[in-house]
Amino acid sequence: MIGQDIIDRFTALLGPKGVTTNADDIAPWVSDWRGRYHGAAAAIVSPDSTRLVAETVKLAAELSVPLVPQGGNTSMVGGATPPADGSALILSLRRMNRIRSLSANDNIAVCEAGVILSVLHDAAQAEGRRFPLSLGAKGSATIGGLVSTNAGGTQVLRHGTMRAQVRGLEAVLPDGTVLDTLAALKKDNRGFDLKQLLIGSEGTLGIVTGATLSLLPQIAARRVLFVGLPSVHQARRLLLLAQQREGAALEGFEIMPRDALDAVLAYEPAARDPLGEPHNWYALLELVADETQADSLQKRVTSLLETALEQGLVEDATIAASETQAEALWSLRDGISSAERARGPAVQHDISVPPEKMPAFIEEASAVLERQFAGTRAVAFGHLGDGNVHFHLRAPEGAMGGEWEDADGKAISAAVHDLVTEWAGSISAEHGIGQMKRDELGRLADPATLSILRGVKQALDPQGIMNPGKLVPLASRAPAA
Ligand code: FAD
Repeated sequence: MIGQDIIDRFTALLGPKGVTTNADDIAPWVSDWRGRYHGAAAAIVSPDSTRLVAETVKLAAELSVPLVPQGGNTSMVGGATPPADGSALILSLRRMNRIRSLSANDNIAVCEAGVILSVLHDAAQAEGRRFPLSLGAKGSATIGGLVSTNAGGTQVLRHGTMRAQVRGLEAVLPDGTVLDTLAALKKDNRGFDLKQLLIGSEGTLGIVTGATLSLLPQIAARRVLFVGLPSVHQARRLLLLAQQREGAALEGFEIMPRDALDAVLAYEPAARDPLGEPHNWYALLELVADETQADSLQKRVTSLLETALEQGLVEDATIAASETQAEALWSLRDGISSAERARGPAVQHDISVPPEKMPAFIEEASAVLERQFAGTRAVAFGHLGDGNVHFHLRAPEGAMGGEWEDADGKAISAAVHDLVTEWAGSISAEHGIGQMKRDELGRLADPATLSILRGVKQALDPQGIMNPGKLVPLASRAPAA
């Protein structure tokens, strides 16, 4: 555990507002969102400017004190949870929550790391713009966390992941120097793209303090559809039909099995099944239009649905008639993670395979795993359009949470990841590696990838003080001063 003498040094630097030592105030920030990882920290340090983040990191480097960068703590892989032995401090970016500028003319916003995603959405909307990345945790996840995990979400199909939205970055490196590439240059060929190195590095190479982000003009109209399907193969065919007919107007395509919808209906008191009869699978589609296309959108969507019904892809469908209905349909999708968490013990995977193979993968992997691990139930949902689903294996009835995940859960995850690797996929499509998948990355990544990851980490953070134990652990860490 870190001693009072060290905490006093950080308090002298940041003042009492910048250092939290009260155990009750720290408690919500030392466990992860799913309640799988429980860490300890003697203090949370919360600088409120880039200069103070740099000074904090310099002091940490001088004292050899590891730092765990943290935004909204919505990581799905224990990425922001400190080590259990209390050997690190949490560095919270939540006080750095200013939107430094937002220009509708230039279509960019410069945000500090602690700006919450939904706050940016609202600010962009107030200026007739939008930030085209959204996810279920938008009310808590921060720009710094989204950048550091290269987050995906429900609009990747059209707009790409966070990598595609970042035009510039400001970050504090492990020795306390500030990397400033905030200028939104269209062309810049001065060697390695260092901002891309930091995006997705999960706090292991430095602290993101700010980002310049792309905005788009607001859409003029959208239509949200919820359709019932006989199988996940029909979902893929519907996706191809919609892409062929509507191209870039198709902004989101999410799938869920009946089982996941049932979980949401049981968990959310306000949730309603939008279709009369149950179906094996469901897809949620969002199509959008600018001013020039807005008038024809309804007609095009209706025609798309008619074709899908004629071709037997879709069994039943509803189109949201208002924004309230559209939001209610999205809340069925966004509510799955919370509903699944409430349903009981499970092991979760966030995997991708080549998009055309995903329906076959879901069917085959579900059958293989349910057979291999008696009593488990596979539930796959999410971003079919990106070839990425969240693949959960629910525990058999009566299994004890925690105990089951630590024992059988590990074997199940290894089996899932082996299958994904056989299918040329990724064991982390969008949530990152964190501590949950660190050993699996070490087991399954090819030697060249591992060697480069370790080499980069060693070069930038030789003391190993940046988010220890996550993504790529160093073989050894320098002893504390
Ligand atoms: P945290 O959880 O605090 O941190 C995440 C990682 O980033 C940690 O490794 C942390 O050390 C590091 N970090 C945080 N801030 C900084 C910083 N300023 N500088 C350096 N490192 C930093 N993710 C998706 O990609 N797509 C989804 O659809 C999606 N849906 C979700 C739905 C729910 C209900 C929940 C709870 C989570 C979901 N997530 C999803 C995961 C999560 O929201 C994202 O990983 C998000 O980017 C984390 O942001 P955060 O601010 O909460 O970061």
